[in-house]
This record gives sequence, structure tokens and C-alpha cells, in this order.
Amino acid sequence: MKSFINLLKNKRNLHTNEGTAIYTNGILVNVIPESFDARDVRYIKSDNVIYDLLNMESIEEIPIPNPYLLKSGDVLSDIYYTLRLISGKYRNLNLKELSYACLRKSNELWLNSPWEFTEKEIMRIVRWLQEDGMFEEATKEKHNIISNKLYQYKNPANKQRLNEIVLKNIHELKTDYIEIPWKAGQCNQCSIYHGRIYSISGNDKRFPKIPSFIWNRFINGQSLIHDHCRCSVYPINMLMPSISYQNKYIKPIDDIIKLSNRPFIPDASLEDVENNKLYYKQLENEKQKDKDREEYYKLVYTIPLVVPKSFSSYRRMKNSNNKTFTHLKEEAQIHGISIS
Ligand SMILES: [Zn+2]
Repeated sequence: MKSFINLLKNKRNLHTNEGTAIYTNGILVNVIPESFDARDVRYIKSDNVIYDLLNMESIEEIPIPNPYLLKSGDVLSDIYYTLRLISGKYRNLNLKELSYACLRKSNELWLNSPWEFTEKEIMRIVRWLQEDGMFEEATKEKHNIISNKLYQYKNPANKQRLNEIVLKNIHELKTDYIEIPWKAGQCNQCSIYHGRIYSISGNDKRFPKIPSFIWNRFINGQSLIHDHCRCSVYPINMLMPSISYQNKYIKPIDDIIKLSNRPFIPDASLEDVENNKLYYKQLENEKQKDKDREEYYKLVYTIPLVVPKSFSSYRRMKNSNNKTFTHLKEEAQIHGISIS
């Protein structure tokens, strides 16, 4: 422990005294002494219990606040966010184990918090472990995150969970009406169906009955129209219906009925179709980038002398697929590393 503190003391701009950030229900209420920044403290006092951020076990013991409150949209004062900043600080100080512990705890709190997250942000710890050559731990960490129920529940990419929530809302509202909202940048196939209100039962003949293939995909937890499609569905309260279409809000019921019954033909603009392609291309690119990162760091830890100095130059080299890369690929295969 002493060596950690000495290490901290040697770094400039870093408070090393016994500063404490105080949280109530996950929200920062005070920092002692006042001159301290929350990210520079050594202790966190959460709901009256003190935790030492230079102690792994103590970090692991930080509980999920109950209730965990969202205060006026200020993420900076949230306990998960402070721990994220501290994890970054520890990483810069090369206190790796402590930085993983803080980031892991931050992830746990974040998943339980009212804040939204992106997969990329939650997976930061996986990237750090890969960069540090800890590939087994990285794979394990990724698996732990993906199998976390709350992650599945909150992750917008997880259709099954999302559909369950919507289905529950439909039942709770006791409504027979759902909307597939219009969305800019939609593909041609989806544009046939979006921007309409449907009757689930088909009893209300003013509206089209939801096509059975869409309803089946929905209750089976799949994307609505086709695999990886971006369409969503919402229950509609017919006491005050409204619908959006091509950036316009449509309220009069007659107009909604007319829109919902327009011919079932594609109406995406050329621009929409292009944007849609771009969206999927970016998704693919992100996936490929994750694969590239993992193999890059495996190479760094196996054949460092022949690997480019940075991940970005590795990617450039890989994309150009030049002779040097062909050679690197052969070398990688000899060492049992497959290049995607
Ligand atoms: Zn589509």
C-alpha cells in the first residue's frame, strides 16, 4: 500500500491526502476538503460507509446505491462516473489492477443506474485488458458483461429484452393499437411498414391489421421486419393518438388513418437508402475494428518486432493488404494467431 501512495505522491497535480467524496443515493453531495476535486480523492463515502480507493477489496465492496437516483441530468456528480474518471487516472499511473477494479465497479453501477450507456463504453475494460496482453481475462470480462442480465435488459441492441418490455406495456395499456414509427434513413423494405398505426387484432377496420410475420418476429424477440432491421414498435393510446411521418407530427385522426392505409409500397428516399447502407457499413466496421484490436495486441505480445507501433498503423497496413502485411500474416500463422 505504501508504494502506491509514494507513486501517487510522485505524480504532479495529484492530491494524495485523505480526501473524501461523499455520496447519497449515488449522487455527489460533498467533497472534503473543499479544495479537492472528486476524482482526486482517496476515499468514497457512499450512504455513510467509507471505501478506500487504494484497496481492491474495498472498491469491490462499494454497493449499488438503493435507491439509485438520477439528479437533474448531471452525470458528473454520479458515483459511477467518478469511478470511471478515477480508473482512467489509475491507468495513467500504471496502477492497473486498481484501474480495472474501479472500471469494473463503475460498469456495475452504471448498469444499475438510470443512465443510458453504449456498448463501446461498457466494453472499455475489455479493450484495456487486450492492450495489456491479458487476452484470457479480456474474453472472460466480455463474457461476464454480455451475460449480465441488466446489460441485456438495457442494451438497445438486445431486441429480445426490448420487445419484452414493449409487449408488457401493450398489456398494461390494454391497447389493441401499435405504431411502427417512421424513421429517417430506413431501408426500402422497412419503409413499406413504418409510419403507420396497426390494429393487433384486426378488429378495428379503420387501421391495417399488423402483418402476422411482423407480429411473430416481434413476440419471438427478433428485429421486426428483417434481421438487424432498425424498426421499433410502440403501444398507442387511442385517446390521444399522434404519429410522425417525414419529420411531421400528424394528429387529426382522419390523417392518421389515411397515412396508415397508404399503399404498401417502399417510400424511402434515395438519401434514406444511402444513409441506411452507411449505418450498416459503420456497424460492420466497428465489429471488424474489435477483431483487429484483439489480433493486433496478440501480435504485439507475441512478435513485437515485426508489428507496427500503433493500432492505427496496423489497421492501415491491414487495409492496404501490402507485401509487408502478407509477411506479417504468415508470421502470425506460425505463432497460431489467426488474422481475420
Ligand atoms: Zn430494413
